[in-house]
Amino acid sequence: MLKKDKKTGRVSFLIKNTNPAFVNSLRRTIIDTVPTMAIEDIEFRKNSSVLYDEIVAHRLGLVPLKTDLKAYTLPAKCKCEGEGCARCTLKLTLKAKGPGTVYSADLKSKDPKIKPAYPKMPIAKLLKGQELELEATAVLGEGKDHVKFSPGLVWFNKEPKIKTSNKQELLEKHKEKYPAEVFDKDGKINADLIIDNNLVDACDGVCDDLIQIEYNDKNFIFFIEPWGQLTPAEMVSNAAVLFNESLEEFEKKLK
Ligand SMILES: [Zn+2]
Repeated sequence: MLKKDKKTGRVSFLIKNTNPAFVNSLRRTIIDTVPTMAIEDIEFRKNSSVLYDEIVAHRLGLVPLKTDLKAYTLPAKCKCEGEGCARCTLKLTLKAKGPGTVYSADLKSKDPKIKPAYPKMPIAKLLKGQELELEATAVLGEGKDHVKFSPGLVWFNKEPKIKTSNKQELLEKHKEKYPAEVFDKDGKINADLIIDNNLVDACDGVCDDLIQIEYNDKNFIFFIEPWGQLTPAEMVSNAAVLFNESLEEFEKKLK
């Protein structure tokens, strides 16, 4: 079972025959440890906008950058030993003159593969004569150091087993108590709509003769909402590698 929402890029899939500890380890590895690129340092050449340097820097730090994990390594694991080189850092420049809005797309990257994931993010508004000129340094980093490095939002639920009935008299009596999104075009309760719209909790316990919900303790629906740096597939495959590495390290330390 794999579902993808084209609008948000959110992906969900079922993980069977496991336990909450394992699924949560996968979740935490993705949000804390799978690295992404983000702007870390900025050298301002000109800034006559109404925003302080610090505010512009903060906004640029939060711009998700498409990340190529094959080409970059974490500074701490890099041959340069954290000094900063082409394998762990990347320069981006921005040069804009008012009047007009400065967008994330105005950031010019030295590496065409690493660029803002969303080109239309507003950074600052410039009036006539105002200027913004800077050089930014992006580095590969981890979500546990700063949330700007986190590749997305990840969560999971126990797999619900939903039994529905559409008894007319009960439906008329309780219809108002359920969210409108759980009914299909013909006004019937639809179990898929309950799951897709994340309304399982909202439907539980209202009227068990209409919607009865039980949970499976071993199966989990896993949700990933990427923020644009990596695809959900890259997030999961990298998390699996990193998780194995940390287990091996743990094993070594035990010995
Ligand atoms: Zn380096």
